[in-house]
Amino acid sequence: MGVAKNKERFRIPGEAANVVKTLKNKGFQAYLIGGCTRDLLLGRTPKDWDVTTDARPEEIIKIFPNTFYENAYGTVGVVNEESPDESLRVIEVTPYRLEATYSDYRRPDSVSFSDKLEDDLKRRDFTINAIALDIGGEEDREFYEGRLVDPYKGQNDLRGALVRTVGNPHERFSEDALRMLRAIRIATELGFMIDSDTEKAIEKYGNLLGNIAKERIRDEFVRILNSDRPMIGLELARRLGLLKYIAAELEQGVGTAQNQAHAYDVWEHSLRSLQHAADKKWPLEIRLAALLHDIGKPASRRWSDEKKDWTFYGHDVIGAKLAAKILSRLAFPKKTTETISKLVRWHMFFSDTEVITLSAVRRLLANVGTEHIWDLMNLRICDRIGTGRPKESPYRLRKYQSMIEEVMHDPVSVSMLRVNGADVISLTESSPGPKIGHILHTLLGEVIEDPKKNERSYLEKRVRELGKLSDQELE
Ligand code: ATP
Ligand code: MG
Repeated sequence: MGVAKNKERFRIPGEAANVVKTLKNKGFQAYLIGGCTRDLLLGRTPKDWDVTTDARPEEIIKIFPNTFYENAYGTVGVVNEESPDESLRVIEVTPYRLEATYSDYRRPDSVSFSDKLEDDLKRRDFTINAIALDIGGEEDREFYEGRLVDPYKGQNDLRGALVRTVGNPHERFSEDALRMLRAIRIATELGFMIDSDTEKAIEKYGNLLGNIAKERIRDEFVRILNSDRPMIGLELARRLGLLKYIAAELEQGVGTAQNQAHAYDVWEHSLRSLQHAADKKWPLEIRLAALLHDIGKPASRRWSDEKKDWTFYGHDVIGAKLAAKILSRLAFPKKTTETISKLVRWHMFFSDTEVITLSAVRRLLANVGTEHIWDLMNLRICDRIGTGRPKESPYRLRKYQSMIEEVMHDPVSVSMLRVNGADVISLTESSPGPKIGHILHTLLGEVIEDPKKNERSYLEKRVRELGKLSDQELE
């Protein structure tokens, strides 16, 4: 790992360097700070660029043509609309801030500004995030000589791969409880350990996370999931007692033994399934579904004397409900919640290609939706790898995939039928109501069994027949 000496050359994109240079030309102090300095020192690509300065919000706004207020802490977003790089479109400039008192474990009671960089570094969360980088004139295209201000020896912790609070961890976590989850997230993303005193404080103060807004917890959770090592991150969260503030339901999988097809308990199986999704660089939806696919298992586990093994009947149905509950509690977008709940609901699909019919594949397609069918297949791959003893052969899954491709364009939803609601209304001479939907769904059932029946004259004939049935009979 390349950790810089006190003077070194840094590659800073023009947009970020300009913000610093402009502030300095106007007589202010300005430093790159936080994640960007840390990532530069680690040789990683910064996710965003933050600047800290002794200029006050009004002064920052006066200097730059296009700005907006980011938050209640005096942060001003400097906008570079034309930047081709998304991470440079808004550069956050924050005035030096003083540490304030916190009475609700999450937000300072008041924000006050300072003229001293040292005050600002002192209020930052971790030593590796409290290194300020001062840049001189440009030496070569985008390369600058830099000087580091590092009073908390963040560079030592970068070398030792350690996340350690600035100052006393007990105090810092009781000021803002989210920092505990940030510690885990940052350690997970960087592949770092958490310093032992910092860890002890997390174990002691974890319950304060109950005061933190679900959205903020969700954002850190998502970053853990989207990292390269979500399995390590979530196991660390569990070990330090924070998992229950993400989703207490997950903890019930710890020590929940499974049937003989599995090498691991429900928790470890879920983690290994998730890790496979990360190894494949699959998107968040698959990662979440992999983590939650067996969330219904602890509640549905029964011992079978006959099988001499555990059974989990209905865990897919229970799991779909639990997954939706967890994700809406964490304020995930409704669409994400619905997708994952659906994937959990149908993850047990029967896939024995020796026995299965094309209409069964069409029924699955109708249930999960053509837009999610490949997600479901990927979830199945994660599930299979996560058992530790994959039983299902990759050959069988490939065969199943080709069956999906075969039926992919067959009619599997009401909207794909050759008659629509208006047709049904006029053919049955009835008025709009639930009956129309029942008729359409009955037709869909027939067409899924035999796609050749999706033909106008046949469907019209069936509509007339079905129209004569009573509501109860149709249902
Ligand atoms: P990344 O950009 O990869 O998300 P980051 O460390 O830059 O990582 P940000 O959320 O962008 O994270 O925060 C920028 C900086 O602000 C941090 O590096 C840290 O110095 C400070 N910071 C952020 N959140 C807190 C907090 N809750 N308490 C104290 N300081 C914080
Ligand atoms: Mg940042």
